[in-house]
Amino acid sequence: MRRLEHFITGAWTPATGTGTPLHDAYSGDIIAETGDTPPMAPVLDYARTTGGPALRAMTPHARALMLKAIGQKLMERKEELYTLSTSTGATRSDSWVDIDGGIGTLLTYASRARRELPNQNVMKDGAPEVLSKDGTFLGQHIRVPREGVAVMINAYNFPVWGMLEKLAPAWIAGMPVLVKPARQTSHLTELCVRMMLDTGLVPEGAVQLICGGAGDLLDHLTAQDMLSFTGSATVARQLRAHPTVIANSVPFNAEADSLNAAILGPDVTPDAPEFDQFVKEVHREMTVKAGQKCTAIRRVIVPAAVLDAVQKALVDRINLTKPDDMGRLVSAAQCADVRAAVDQLEAEANIVTGGAPRGTWHPPTLLRCDTPLTAKAPHEVEAFGPVATLMPYGTGAEAIQIANKGGGSLVASVFTDDPDVAREIGLGIARLNGRIHFGNRASAKSSTGHGSPLPVLIHGGPGRAGGGEELGGMRAVHHHMHRVAIQGTPDQITAVTGVWAPGAATRDDRHPFLKSLAELEVGDTIRTASRVVTLDDIEHFANFTGDTFYAHMDEDAAKRNPFFPGRVAHGYLIVSFAAGLFVEPSEGPVLANYGLDSLRFMAPVSPGDALSVILTAKEITPREGEPHGEVRWDCTVLRDGEAVVAQYDVLTLLAKEPREL
Ligand code: NAP
Repeated sequence: MRRLEHFITGAWTPATGTGTPLHDAYSGDIIAETGDTPPMAPVLDYARTTGGPALRAMTPHARALMLKAIGQKLMERKEELYTLSTSTGATRSDSWVDIDGGIGTLLTYASRARRELPNQNVMKDGAPEVLSKDGTFLGQHIRVPREGVAVMINAYNFPVWGMLEKLAPAWIAGMPVLVKPARQTSHLTELCVRMMLDTGLVPEGAVQLICGGAGDLLDHLTAQDMLSFTGSATVARQLRAHPTVIANSVPFNAEADSLNAAILGPDVTPDAPEFDQFVKEVHREMTVKAGQKCTAIRRVIVPAAVLDAVQKALVDRINLTKPDDMGRLVSAAQCADVRAAVDQLEAEANIVTGGAPRGTWHPPTLLRCDTPLTAKAPHEVEAFGPVATLMPYGTGAEAIQIANKGGGSLVASVFTDDPDVAREIGLGIARLNGRIHFGNRASAKSSTGHGSPLPVLIHGGPGRAGGGEELGGMRAVHHHMHRVAIQGTPDQITAVTGVWAPGAATRDDRHPFLKSLAELEVGDTIRTASRVVTLDDIEHFANFTGDTFYAHMDEDAAKRNPFFPGRVAHGYLIVSFAAGLFVEPSEGPVLANYGLDSLRFMAPVSPGDALSVILTAKEITPREGEPHGEVRWDCTVLRDGEAVVAQYDVLTLLAKEPREL
C-alpha cells in the first residue's frame, strides 16, 4: 500500500500516523493512504523565507516563462495524469476538464502575464493623481507582492485544475504556494506536483504539498499570507471564523457550493433551436463529472407553458445515458451524501427520473418542484452529484425571483434569442451571480458553455457561493499583491514605481530614439521644434485621407458646432504631425511603433497654430529572453508652446543593445 508523501521544506516526506485509505472509485480497492499532517509552522516559514525570495528574485515575465515551460512539460506527460484520474471516478472527458483545463490555465496565465504586466515586481495601479495645483505633489496607487504564502485548501473534484488555477496567478505575483488538496483525490495532485518538480524548473520552496488534513496550518497564518478555500459552504464558514484568520486579518477567499440556475427564456418555444440547446446543456451539466462540479446546473427554471415539454425532452435524453457514458462519484460515502440530499429535496419536489444508487454510481436524477417561489429545499440543498430540479415560472420577474432565491451562485445561464429578455433577466440576476452565460442559436457552436470557468473571466460568486473571486485574467494576480497608495513629489513617485510621472526630472542629452534599452532611462526626453498648421495642410489631409468632415472643410458649419471656433485640424493630422516632429528618421534601435494608448484631443487646433511635442520615456519593459523590449512614451502636443492640444502614450519596440548597422 503506497502512502502518499508530503512535499515540505524541500523534500518528499512520508506521512506518519494511522493511515486513511483512498479507494478507487470504480473497483473500491484501496489504492493509497494518507497519514498525519506534520506541524505546519516550519513549513510555512520555509515558504516565506526560501520560496518567496526565490520567486521574487525573478521578474514577473521570468516567472511567466517558467510557468510556460512547466506547462509544456506537464502536457508531454499528461497521459500519466489521465491514467491515474480514472481512479477518481472520472471519464476521459471529465479528466480533460481537470487535466487539460488545468494545464491550459497555466499556459494562459504564462502568456497573458507577459503581454499585460510590466516586467517588474512593483506594479502601478492607475494613473497618478495630481494632489497640488503646481504639480509638485502626486498620489499613485501601486501593487507590491505579499511576502507570505498562498495557502490553498482545495475540493476533491478538480485535483489538478483546482491546484493549477490558483498556483498560476500566485506564482506570477511572486508568492510561494502551499497546496492542501482534499484527501480523497490527493494522489492525483501529488502526481502532478511530482511532475512539476521533475522539470527541475521550480524554485526551491515555491511549492509545497500536504497530503493529509490541515493540521495546525491555520494557526500560523499571518496578514501577509492568503488563504484560498474551495469546498463546501460549511467548511468555508469554519475557516472564515478561525480565530487566527480573524485576529491576523488573513486575506480569505472562498469558493463554496452553489445552486446554479439555468433559465429558459419566455420567448423560447419547443421548436426553437434554443430549446434543444437548453436541454442539451442541462443534461451535460448533470452528467459531466457525474454532476460533481461546483458550476453544475442544479435549478432548471422554465416557462410554465413549456414545463412538460422540457421535462419530457430531458427525461428522453437522460434515458439515453448509459452508466458508462458517465463517471462515478468519488466514493460510496459521497454517493450516500447525494442520496441523502435527494431525500431532502423530495420533501418539496417529486422525482421525475432517477433511482437507487449502486456503489459509487448515482443515476442522473431529475426532480420537479411546482412551487418554486415558496419552496426552500431546491434553493438550499446541494446534491453534489447528477441531480437537478426543474421548476416553472410565469413572468420574467418571477424567473428572476426564483433564480435569486439561490442566495448567490457561481454562474447562471439564460437561453434566449431575444435581446430584451437577455437584458431583463441578465440584469435581474446579475447581483447574485459571479458569471452569466447567455446561450442562443448564434453562439451555439462557439459557446464555451455554462459550466466552464475560463482563465480570463472571473470565477466565484456572492453570498452562498462564498463571496470570493478567482481567475479573471490579471485580476487574480492582483489579488495576490498588496495595494498601497503613495504620495510624494513626481521624482519620488518615479523612483518608487520605475515609471516616469509628469513633473519628474527629465534628461535631454540626445534624441532618445538613438538610445537602445541599455542606454535609455525613464525621463529621457525630447522637446521638438514647432510646425505651423495651415489651411492647405488641413485640405490636403482631408482630400488625401477622404476625411472631409464638415468641421475641417466648412467654416460656417464648423462655427455652428459648439466646440470649434471655425475650421479645425483633424485630430489624426495632429497625431501625424506630432510623429513627424518627434521622430528620428535614421535606422537605429527603435524597431516599431505598435500603438497609442489613452489618446485624448484636448483643445482645437486652427489654421495658423504652431504645434510642438514633448516626448518622454515613461516606462521601459525589457522582454525576457528576447533581444528587444517595449517603451511607453509620454507624448504631449502643445499649441504655441503652451496649451496642451493632445495627450497620449506612444508604444514602441526597442532593441536592447545598440544595433550593428
Ligand atoms: P469539503 O468537504 O468542504 O472539503 C474541501 C477542503 O477542505 C478539503 O481539502 C478538506 O480536506 C478541507 N477541510 C475540511 N474540513 C476542514 C477544516 N476543518 N479545516 C481545514 N480544512 C478542511 O468539500 P469537498 O467535499 O472536497 O468538495 C465538495 C464541495 O466543494 C461541494 O460542496 C462543492 O460545491 C464545493 N466546490 C466548490 C467549488 C467552487 O469553485 N465554488 C469547486 C469545487 C467544489 P480533507 O479532504 O482533508 O477533509
